[in-house]
Order: sequence, then C-alpha cells, then structure tokens
Amino acid sequence: MPSTSKIVVQDLWKDFGDPRKSGRSVGGSGKATVPVLENINLEVPEGELVCIVGPSGCGKSTLLNIIAGFIKATSGQVLIDGAQVTSPDMKRVFIFQENGVFPWLTIEENVGFGLLDKPPKVRQPVVTHYIEMVGLTGFEKAYPREISGGMKQRVEIARALAANPDILYMDEPFGALDFLTRLRMRAELVQIWQREKKTILFVTHDVEESVQLADRVVVMSQRPATIATVIDVNLPRPRDLDSPEYLSIRDEIFEVMGLDYSGQSSSSSSAKTPTPAVAVGLLSSPTQPKRLDAEVIIIGGGPAGAVLGNYLGCAGIDHFIIDKTHHPRSHVGESLSYSANRILKEIDFLPVMERERFIAKGGVSWTSWYDEEQTDLEFRGLGDFGHAYQVDRARFDDLLLKHAYEHGARMFSGALVERINFNRQGKATGVTVKIGGARIALKSRIVVDASGQDAILGRQLKLEKRRANFPELALHSWFSGVDRGKSSTAHFTHIHLLRIGRGWAWQIPINDEVTSVGVVTDREHFVKSGENVNQFFKWTMELNPTLAERMKNATQLREFRMDGTSNYIMDSFAGNGWLLLGDAAFFLDPVFSSGISAAIHSAKFAAEAIFQALVANDISEQSLSRYDEMLRPGIMVWHDLVRLFYEFAPIFSRVIADSEHRVSMQRLCEGDIFDPAAQHTLTILQDALQAIRTVPDSPLHKSLRAAVI
Ligand SMILES: Cc1cc2nc3c(=O)[nH]c(=O)nc-3n(C[C@H](O)[C@H](O)[C@H](O)COP(=O)(O)OP(=O)(O)OC[C@H]3O[C@@H](n4cnc5c(N)ncnc54)[C@H](O)[C@@H]3O)c2cc1C
Repeated sequence: MPSTSKIVVQDLWKDFGDPRKSGRSVGGSGKATVPVLENINLEVPEGELVCIVGPSGCGKSTLLNIIAGFIKATSGQVLIDGAQVTSPDMKRVFIFQENGVFPWLTIEENVGFGLLDKPPKVRQPVVTHYIEMVGLTGFEKAYPREISGGMKQRVEIARALAANPDILYMDEPFGALDFLTRLRMRAELVQIWQREKKTILFVTHDVEESVQLADRVVVMSQRPATIATVIDVNLPRPRDLDSPEYLSIRDEIFEVMGLDYSGQSSSSSSAKTPTPAVAVGLLSSPTQPKRLDAEVIIIGGGPAGAVLGNYLGCAGIDHFIIDKTHHPRSHVGESLSYSANRILKEIDFLPVMERERFIAKGGVSWTSWYDEEQTDLEFRGLGDFGHAYQVDRARFDDLLLKHAYEHGARMFSGALVERINFNRQGKATGVTVKIGGARIALKSRIVVDASGQDAILGRQLKLEKRRANFPELALHSWFSGVDRGKSSTAHFTHIHLLRIGRGWAWQIPINDEVTSVGVVTDREHFVKSGENVNQFFKWTMELNPTLAERMKNATQLREFRMDGTSNYIMDSFAGNGWLLLGDAAFFLDPVFSSGISAAIHSAKFAAEAIFQALVANDISEQSLSRYDEMLRPGIMVWHDLVRLFYEFAPIFSRVIADSEHRVSMQRLCEGDIFDPAAQHTLTILQDALQAIRTVPDSPLHKSLRAAVI
C-alpha cells in the first residue's frame, strides 16, 4: 500500500565525485567517488517537526538538499505527497544559517517578497500577521542593517511562512546566533509551528536543540551516513530542559553518536589511598546524576584536574574530567618541587613515578653571570623523601590522568569547554562542551575549573588580577649533548642567572639524553633585540659563562616554544557551585618549579572542600569559600618569595646556602608554603637578604650590585 506520509525517502544513496581521492566507482564508470549517504529510508507525516542530527560533515545538509530537490541522489528517490521530487518547488521554503534577507528591502518588503504576485490588499494583512507573529511589529520600515542577527533570522522565518509553504526546510538556521538568541528563537519556532502546523525538517548538529524542538529526532552516523536511529520525543511543550525524561533522551542520542566516553570503574583501590576524612559512599546525591552529567565536572586533565579526580574517585564521588586535548600532550613545566611528593604519595602515585623511571632530582644548582661558582642546594635533610622528580610532562600528565581513571574518573577528551553555565541565582550548573561538531550542555552540582592558563571560568567572571614586575616570556626547547656539569649534581635542576634584568635560564634533565633548556625574561628584551627566536635564544645562552659552556655541543631536538609567564591571581578561588584550581586560579613565576606542586595542593584542598560541601549538602559560595581560605595564604607566601628572589637574584641562593636556617628556607622554596611557620621563615630570609645591603664591603653586597645589561 502506498505511504500516506507527506515526505517519503526511499533507498536513497549519494556519492560525490572526488578526483583527488580514490573511492568506490559507481556503475563501473571508473571515476573515483566519495560515498556520502547510504541507504536512507525515512517517512515524515504531514505537520511533523523532525530534526536530523549527526556529526559535522556527515551528510545531513546533503540529505536535506536532496529532499528539497536542490541536489540529485545517486540512487533512490524522494516522494512528496506521492510525487517524485526532481527539482525545488516554490511551495516549499529553505531557510539557511547564512542570512538570506535582502539588505536593500525593508522588513515588511522582505516578508512580503514571496507575495509580490498578490495585490497589496491581499498581501498586506498576511505581512502584518507574520511580522506580528515573529515579534517584529514596529520594525516594518527598518532595514536589515538596523536590526540584530536574531531579528534578521525572524524576518527570514516570517518571509518563509508568509509564502504559505507546505514544508519548511531549515539547515542550521540558528547556528550563527548567540546562545541566548538561539534559545529564544527555538522557543519562538515551537510556538509558530504549534500555530501553523507546517511540516518542518530541521538539520542541526546541536543535540540539545533537536530534543528541545522535535517530534522525532533522526540520528545520522558518521559519513558515509546511514540513519543510526530515530528517536521519538514524546514530551509536552514547552519542554523542561531539566526533566529526567529530557535528559535521558538527550543522553540516548549522545550514546548513539558515540559521544559517551564514560570509563566508570570501581573505586576498589580506594582502600590503598588515604582520602580526606570522608567515608566512601556517604555522598549520595538527592538527585542521581544522569550518565552524561556528574556530581562534579572538572575542566582540564592537567595535574590539577587529574589529582582532584584521584581524590574524588577514591571518595566515590561521581565526576567527569573534560580536556580539550587528547593526552599525552606536551606541556612546559618539567621539574617537580620537593613538596609535590607529599600529594603524589597521598594519591599512591610514587610507585608509578619509580616504575616509570622518572629522573630523581636531588636538588637545585644555581650559577651566576658574574663568576663561575655553582651553589648547590641539595634536598638531603629536607624530610622523608630523598629526592623530587624531573618529568616529561606529556608522559607524567598522561599517567596521572590514567591513575585518576583507575580510581573512577569518567573522561571526555578532545572536548572543548566553551563556557560555564549559571542559573538565575548565579549558581554554576554545568558546562557547555564542544565535541567535534556537536555541542552538549552537561550538568553538575559543582564545576571545577582546572583549565590551566586558559583560566576559562576566571576570565568568564572577570576575576583576573595581573601582577606587575615579573618577566612575561619563556622560550624553550629540548636538546641533546648538553653538558650537565659535575656528576653529583647532573640530575639537579640548574638555574643559570643571566646578565639581563629579570633573566634566567633553566636546565632540566628529562632522561639520559635529553635536556630541557629554557629562558625566562622580560618580553621587552626580545622585542628590542629585533632578532628571531633562534638568534635571541642563542644570545641569551651567552649571558652566563657556565651556561654558554654547557650548551657548546648542544643539538636542538625540537622547535622552540614560547610560553607566557605573566603572574596573575583570581580575586576569588571559589563561588556558588564552583572552584578554581592550579593555573586556572593563579600563575606563579616558574623559578622555584612551583606550578605543579601548587596545582596539586590546590586539588587536595579542593577535594576536602568538595567532600565537606557535599556531605553538608551545601555548595553555596559560603560553604566552598573555605577552599579559598586554605589555599590563598600559602600561594601569597610563594608569591612573596618570588618577588624577593627578583629583588635579590644575584645573591639569593648564596644567602640560603650560608644560612643557619638553610633547611627551613629551602623547604620554603620547595613549597612548604602551607606550613604555619612559612611566613616566619620568609621574614627571616627577607631580613638576611636585606642585611647584605647594609654591609657595602661584603662580597655578597658587591655581587648584588653586579652590573646587568
Ligand atoms: C615557562 C614555564 C615553565 C614552567 N616550569 C615549571 C616547572 O619546572 N615545574 C613546575 O612545577 N611548574 C612549572 N610551570 C608551571 C606548570 O606548567 C603549571 O603550573 C602546571 O601545568 C599547572 O597545572 P594545571 O593542571 O593547573 O594546568 P595545565 O597543566 O595547563 O592543564 C590544563 C588542562 O586543561 C585543558 N584545557 C584548557 N582549556 C580547556 C577547555 N576550555 N576545555 C577543556 N580543557 C581545557 C588543557 O588542555 C590542559 O590539559 C612552568 C610554567 C611555565 C609557563
């Protein structure tokens, strides 16, 4: 029996010719082709609103264009009202994302464009009706340039409806609009459709949009696209975007599209790992999170995010880690400070460090430009750990993330968080993520920003305070053949002070062959030099005789990379339903290799604050602000220490080496900043350095005054 549906798509296939690629050859023609659509069968009853979703470039728009008669299928057919479609039909209107309004016509002329064959007395009431319907009354005489993008899109819809089409084809019509306008346009389209009951075929890559609008969602697979599934959306309109039914349909579509990367594993290993004093299982949320939502969403799978994931996993708290990259990914920051051991031990990661044979860092050696003395500050005597570590960040970060996964973290990688979403009360409710061509809004009770220097939430909320008078630029690469000096300190981090204001270089052994070498300095030195990065780097190596000697036989192994080192701190580390971790909260100058230790300590404090907040069922700003109180004083100590270093750089390490307080001062430099005695030690060090100024004849005083360029 013939179908009574308005639109019938039968056995439709489409190949595009691609002379550059080999592909299958249709009909034995020998011409290489790329298959786009395969065996599409679909029926759309009159008056139905159907959304077609699928990954970017899968062929959704091609399908719509074939149905509308703009493109011919390779085989198969499309029937509308039982008649085969062979070309576009005036009765059916196509609305594109690109604005199709005519700029030289007023709004009412645009809306009436399809009715020009009708006399004004017939045309005008129709135009007025649709202008009113799309909420543009009062703008009839305006030109498109005088109205917003959302209003232009409404003009286009009004023009399409005024022509009284029996089908509307809409291809990503709201894709170019901002978020709020898009939401408003969706609501308006639903209202218009409920009134007019046109048949609508709507292509989108936005899964949320499809569930909000459609009677049925057609989910396409990757190219060559087939129909993966068709999902009925039997929910009343307007739809409640928080309802479990809505979320479950949305998640079902994501799963069909293969976007659920969840890797939930048991937290059985939690017994091995001490967690802040909260029992596993205490935290049952009143609303069980959906699979694609979580109690806690962590943006960024660097050390801060991964370590938080480890803690949360051990406490049985459901969470997602979302990273825009796929690990392993390279990163600067290869020397761990001594204090990092404490956290790595707590999350049971030191055995991994040993197994993976990361280089044991036994201390830090300092050299200056004004003499050839090397000051060695060994870690022996600092505490329980004999050494810290030097790491290849790609490997280290990847292992930390895998460790989090083994403790129960769920992950999205290759997923960019575009923004953090808030409700009307100003509480963070989740994030909007872009994966491939698709956008998803994920919900959570707490959002944690660990996005590193991207600092996505701090910047969204404009919390950032820049700190002046620190160098802003680092230029670095990996080398072989770098002389590491005497064998007893070959595996130390070497800091070489340069004969330029606020300039120093690091030398960090990554493995037996490879050494990371980088320069940190004021941007203006680079700009004024007028040189390219190679020349500038070479020049800086000559600004310290020891370093110049060490680099004599060095061979560069990879491209130079430039990173910003500008110091900043966010006004607040915690708010209503959100927290900032690591570099997303503050950036400290890297001279003390402080970044990772500070980041993973912030993760520990965040975990404690999150546990307590969830147990108390209070995730308000007041509740989470204890995190800020725990973290900020220590960060400020480290910050003041860095300031002190730049003030006394030529003699800084030498004063410590000679001091009777050497151990506590070294501990401070290595990150014992949360210790109650930290501020006291800082004052002692400050006094010792200041004292040199009062003894003009002392050698250290002369060193302090050693000339720089
Ligand atoms: C020149 C230089 C030298 C340094 N040297 C040292 C050193 O020797 N020792 C040391 O301890 N520290 C050092 N640091 C600092 C150290 O690199 C950082 O402090 C550390 O990486 C911070 O970790 P994190 O997890 O906060 O951020 P990151 O390690 O930067 O991780 C952030 C993650 O978030 C992801 N992300 C970002 N935006 C988004 C988004 N919108 N959506 C999804 N994911 C996103 C990123 O892909 C990344 O994986 C140095 C820094 C610089 C600039």
